[in-house]
Amino acid sequence: MNILIIGSGAIGLSTAFELALAGHSVRVVTRNYEEGTSWVAGGMLAPFSEGLTGDLLSFSVESLNLYPDFISRLEDVARMKIYFSRNGILRITMDEEEHREVGRLAREYARGGVGVEEIDSQELRKRKPFLSGEPFGAFLFKEEGNVDAEKLMDALLLGCENLGVKIHIDEITEIEKKNGRVESIKGYRDTYRADFYVFTTGAWSKSLLKLPVFPVKGQILKVKGIELERVLYSKIAYIIPKENYLLIGATSEDAGFDSRATLGGVRTLTEGALRLLPSLGDVEFLGVKVGFRPGTPDEAPIFEAGENYFICVGHYRNGILWTPVSAHTILSYVEKGELSPYVKKFSAQRFLVG
Ligand SMILES: Cc1cc2nc3c(=O)[nH]c(=O)nc-3n(C[C@H](O)[C@H](O)[C@H](O)COP(=O)(O)OP(=O)(O)OC[C@H]3O[C@@H](n4cnc5c(N)ncnc54)[C@H](O)[C@@H]3O)c2cc1C
Repeated sequence: MNILIIGSGAIGLSTAFELALAGHSVRVVTRNYEEGTSWVAGGMLAPFSEGLTGDLLSFSVESLNLYPDFISRLEDVARMKIYFSRNGILRITMDEEEHREVGRLAREYARGGVGVEEIDSQELRKRKPFLSGEPFGAFLFKEEGNVDAEKLMDALLLGCENLGVKIHIDEITEIEKKNGRVESIKGYRDTYRADFYVFTTGAWSKSLLKLPVFPVKGQILKVKGIELERVLYSKIAYIIPKENYLLIGATSEDAGFDSRATLGGVRTLTEGALRLLPSLGDVEFLGVKVGFRPGTPDEAPIFEAGENYFICVGHYRNGILWTPVSAHTILSYVEKGELSPYVKKFSAQRFLVG
């Protein structure tokens, strides 16, 4: 089948990759392949540290379990290594009340078979002497992971290229539809036609798709100089080790598409991180990255499966985690006409009720 993907973030490129690998002829149209928020993401695969529940939790766990195979397929085709680990995330709590709240969820997860270890303050100081005295305790969510989102994006671009996927640079401004089918899409440079269309336009989806998706600005710091075994996640900052650097995240701002890195953002992140890990005061500052999470009113993604199109947007703060399951959902629909239950659960229709 001749397939056109609109958008080249992790969701668009992973879908292009899986469809091309399955033998389809795939093209991607994107305004700017360096603009995607996916380049900025922390890359934490953290459904439990994020405290997800219900459908979002099962959707996330499905994606987490697809990750190892997805990474090894991609590494094979792209012929490059992607930093990826599944050695758990340390969810640090800052006071007794937060510890009780995270503990309540952790016990629920554990009843469902999730690997969790509770660590009290005394034990935490013994095991992590480099932490400041401020954290109250922690929970180790043993199956959570961490992927280098920049490397993932590099590999997706390379993997797509090796499979013959062509990327067109253009901004799509109009979708021409007839009897519920997409006839063509129009950009500033050209009009594009295909047998099937996939829309993965992230935070910019509102004007093109008329869906309730809005940008949630996030700033994240890149530093270098100390090594950490695993992600430290807390409500005041999270510190994410990669192969050659660390990320310190992240602000969450209602600031539209303001792409400025600000001193206020740097201060908030620096102060939070130093309260956890005082030795960060001596690391080398490499820079600030700014991105736009594709927010939705209920923090869940938005899917729509049409006769010859699929919309997959609104991945908010977990789009890297939800990358394999999103691509897999679209692949199953294109290949077998199969509708994952999540397409109904996360349908745009939920915003029309009431
Ligand atoms: C600071 C920060 C930290 C984060 N940390 C994590 C994390 O630790 N774990 C996690 O899972 N998630 C994290 N996220 C969330 C994650 O980054 C996003 O959910 C994810 O990147 C969204 O991917 P996407 O492919 O939908 O969108 P994007 O990567 O934004 O890609 C959208 C693409 O669509 C293109 N486009 C848009 N409109 C048009 C148009 N009209 N025509 C042509 N092209 C168009 C854009 O140019 C872009 O290439 C974080 C986000 C931020 C900002």
